[in-house]
Amino acid sequence: MNILHFQAIRCNALRLLPPYQNQKCSMTTNPCQTCGACCASFRVSFYWGEADDAPGGTVPAQLTEAVSPFLRCMKGTASQPVRCIALKGEPGKQVSCSIYAQRPSTCREFDVLEADGSPNPRCAELREQLLKR
Ligand code: SF4
Ligand code: SF4
Repeated sequence: MNILHFQAIRCNALRLLPPYQNQKCSMTTNPCQTCGACCASFRVSFYWGEADDAPGGTVPAQLTEAVSPFLRCMKGTASQPVRCIALKGEPGKQVSCSIYAQRPSTCREFDVLEADGSPNPRCAELREQLLKR
């Protein structure tokens, strides 16, 4: 989930994301705040040094668990049903990341838009899967 880029999100891109198809969009609309599908679908793993018990790490270590000697993941994402411990709210309705500024690189890199500004097709897929649960 990446809401820092949200000021740059283009209206055409937003309208392609469920449930926004055919809706007029506003530049104050952030699809991630009513989604959270990526925070409730994957094991969110990352290099252990990103946790704050390592020098320069930011991710609160108490919210992580070991995956291997070199990898950690966000608690809640290594088992079913997946739900990151840092996710607040109800996926598909209203959500937020309680550690937004400290979130791991995995989350920063999964963006609602692709590098070329087109919608990330995985968002629509994940949202669809979420609605089927
Ligand atoms: S799946 Fe896409 S739209 Fe939904 S929260 Fe993640 S980045 Fe945002
Ligand atoms: S750390 Fe935040 S952005 Fe990353 S999966 Fe958890 S709730 Fe989502």
